[in-house]
Amino acid sequence: MLSKRLLLLSSKLGYQTRSFAEAARRLGVEVVFGTDRCRRLEDPWGDGALALRFDDPEAAAEAIEDLARRSPFDAVFALGDQPAPTAAYAARRLGLPGNPIEAARNCSTKLRQREVLAAAGFPVPEFFSFRWDEPFEKVLARVKFPCVIKPLTLSASQGVIRADNAAELAAAVRRIRALLESPAVAASRHGELDRVLVERYISGAEVAVEGLLTRGRLRVLAIFDKPDPLDGPYFEETIYVTPSRLPQEVQAAIRDSAARAARALGLAHGPLHAEFRIENGRPWVLELQPRPIGGLCARALRFGSRGIGLEELVLRHALDLAGADEEREAAASGVMMIPVPRSGIFEGVEGIEAAQATPGITGIEITARPHDPVLAWPEGSSYLGFIFARAEEPLQVEKALREAHAKLGIVFRSELPIGRA
Ligand code: ADP
Ligand code: CA
Repeated sequence: MLSKRLLLLSSKLGYQTRSFAEAARRLGVEVVFGTDRCRRLEDPWGDGALALRFDDPEAAAEAIEDLARRSPFDAVFALGDQPAPTAAYAARRLGLPGNPIEAARNCSTKLRQREVLAAAGFPVPEFFSFRWDEPFEKVLARVKFPCVIKPLTLSASQGVIRADNAAELAAAVRRIRALLESPAVAASRHGELDRVLVERYISGAEVAVEGLLTRGRLRVLAIFDKPDPLDGPYFEETIYVTPSRLPQEVQAAIRDSAARAARALGLAHGPLHAEFRIENGRPWVLELQPRPIGGLCARALRFGSRGIGLEELVLRHALDLAGADEEREAAASGVMMIPVPRSGIFEGVEGIEAAQATPGITGIEITARPHDPVLAWPEGSSYLGFIFARAEEPLQVEKALREAHAKLGIVFRSELPIGRA
């Protein structure tokens, strides 16, 4: 039998991409990478990667079609937010199932997503956006506090700040502007860095939803509770635990809201990652994206009797292989994104063995590299690593993650004494 061929689109060359590529290879699938990084190099990963520009999805899809003419693809799969429009254009050109171009575009900026949902009559927090050149007094006149200010196209809560009054808003605006104008972000090829979105702060518990769309029908794979308070002013994530401990009727409302939001945005096929806040028992959509959960969090989910990971499940779905309909295991499971306690030069993590020995802990992966500079939120966007747990009950999973994390010692390079000649 001829092996299937997958085009994996990703801006990042890191561990998440590797994790999906490994899952594909376990399925006996040939993987071709498409990336917009390292454009100076013809072959960024020594892997025959295709150099693409995700900010010009039509041209990128044309390049993909050229390649596919010689050697066809069975699926085009996007990781992260940036390649989603390219995946949609490519799917249309190649006649593969995927999301409509319009739907991918609707999710490509947070402002557009709010506009489309609001126009469809979907409840979204009050919002507006403004550019840096707009006078602050004008902005202030439109704001209701507390509010959240955020970039239009970044992810992982990078640059997302809560403000409760005018002084906090002014400080947040300065801080986000400095971030968006920093060389690293400016070079990241994200769009719309000259403005921000302001929206009403929604109080209440937060959940993440992992789903899979098949020709317009949503199957919810998991609802994750986020048991640590996310009150701001910054929104670094920590613990995800599934199944959710929210009342069944609230979970039903979340599923329903996810399905309706996906429909309103036009999303039709492939993975879906969504986030909601539950205010007074009612779900408010924070965002919906046509991609799987980020980082190594996919490893927190297992499906079927063989315990296949989310990576394998969604790739089976994309490639139309058997087994994509497996149910999530009965056990509770979760992941902790290891927070960045402060910005500095990361040197390593102590106590991993002890943490790993904590009952319920199934794995710890440190993904930050020793000697690398790391940034705390809101400027930061990369966790130090991931702790995974599994137990009978969600509360045991949460406890195991907290216990294991408490045993870790995060080591930073010691500062030089200040003021020495
Ligand atoms: P990103 O795509 O960077 O993750 P989000 O819009 O999802 O950006 O915001 C990141 C986090 O900030 C959310 O998970 C949530 O905790 C918080 N947040 C964002 N918008 C709001 C809001 N309107 N009300 C309350 N919290 C919010
Ligand atoms: Ca988010």
